[in-house]
Amino acid sequence: MFEGLSERLGSVFDRLKKRGALSESDVSTAMREVRVALLEADVALPVVKSFIDRVRERAIGQEVIKSVTPGQMVVKIVHDELVATLGSDSQAVNLNAVAPVPILMVGLQGGGKTTTTAKLAKRLTERDRKKVLMASLDVTRPAAREQLRTLGEQVGVDTLPIVQGETALTIAKRAMTAGRLQGYDVVMLDTAGRTSIDEGLMAEARAVRDAVNPHEVLLVADALTGQDAVTTATNFDERVGITGIILTRVDGDSRGGAALSMRGVTGKPIKALGVGEKVGDLEDFHPERIAGRILGMGDVVSLVEKAAQTIEADEAEKMAERMMKGTFTLDDMASQLKQLRNLGGLGGVLGMLPGVGKLQKQLAGANIDDGQLKRQEAIISSMTKAERVNPRVMNASRKRRVAAGSGTEVQDINRLLKSHMEMAKMMKKVGKMGGKGMMKGLMG
Ligand code: GDP
Repeated sequence: MFEGLSERLGSVFDRLKKRGALSESDVSTAMREVRVALLEADVALPVVKSFIDRVRERAIGQEVIKSVTPGQMVVKIVHDELVATLGSDSQAVNLNAVAPVPILMVGLQGGGKTTTTAKLAKRLTERDRKKVLMASLDVTRPAAREQLRTLGEQVGVDTLPIVQGETALTIAKRAMTAGRLQGYDVVMLDTAGRTSIDEGLMAEARAVRDAVNPHEVLLVADALTGQDAVTTATNFDERVGITGIILTRVDGDSRGGAALSMRGVTGKPIKALGVGEKVGDLEDFHPERIAGRILGMGDVVSLVEKAAQTIEADEAEKMAERMMKGTFTLDDMASQLKQLRNLGGLGGVLGMLPGVGKLQKQLAGANIDDGQLKRQEAIISSMTKAERVNPRVMNASRKRRVAAGSGTEVQDINRLLKSHMEMAKMMKKVGKMGGKGMMKGLMG
């Protein structure tokens, strides 16, 4: 899957990777090629635009880590942004509700809805040890209900007995009642599909939704239809409301446009991938893995990650020396914040220091992001050298000056000073315990 896109990107980066130093025009050329590759892979234009912008911004601002080349650095950035585009948090089908948990399957006819219902039921039965009941609500095509029954027998999952002459809504209610009375954990409702979106289909799906209050509404869409799959998802979301997407026929999809656009356009997570006709051909959706497959440069990505870790270790070592002396100035803190930002996350340097967990939690609790890290750096750089070395001199008028200089509020300055105090206190404690040795010990 995704071979076409993978090949295109591969050749762009093979060239880039080999270069010792990259000029801005190298990066621009590469980005133009990536843009074309993504558009040819049928990725939605706004998604492509925002992707390229993010990569360019990071590539230009990025310091290159010792022992990797700028080209390798760019590969890593593209990898990370691919993961972000796919939706960095991999999400599973959510069963966290009172049993029987209703799951509504929606989508166009031929998209693979019925097959996927059986695949998912099999998975929930075998892997999650759930007792699952499936019911087909497709009263327009008698064959549809037969198809689900046959699939049920094949995967060893019960289906609701077929009663002629019922409406979709009646079947749905009967399924939920059976689910309750017979102790099922999950009831999967396979709604009828039409060859195109029509109001009748949507109204029926809404009526069923209102009657059973599904915990998940999963849209099943054919990856091979590219942007049409994305449009279908948007349509269903607007008119019925969906909680997630399962992309099918990903096994035959060399382009990847639907997979890469879904999250960005619909805001809804992809929860699984159909990768073949057999009932076992369902995969969890892991953005990291997909990005790895598309880029095919796992070696470079892990090389850069390792190099970044080495830098963290170097810096931590230097800090340990300062701790031995019992000093931790605001300059030290600023360099930590900068590192943190470069390394892209709170899990970075701070996490390596004992006792910083609490501060980290505070930072995380304050919902700290890149912008906030930058603001904190701005505050520190608006201080005079003397203030940075001895923050105790910070009185009200100095705070106002620094707030004005850094475009923040006095309360931001107070918060930063408090964080610094806590860190300095802790540094001293660790320093007394014989800092350097301990740091080494901690870092293995
Ligand atoms: P529905 O009309 O949406 O219920 O679609 P079906 O479940 O009947 O599937 C239509 C066709 O697509 C069947 O022949 C399935 O075997 C096939 N199909 C479904 N999912 C996949 C998949 O992930 N990969 C491949 N290659 N075929 C699939």
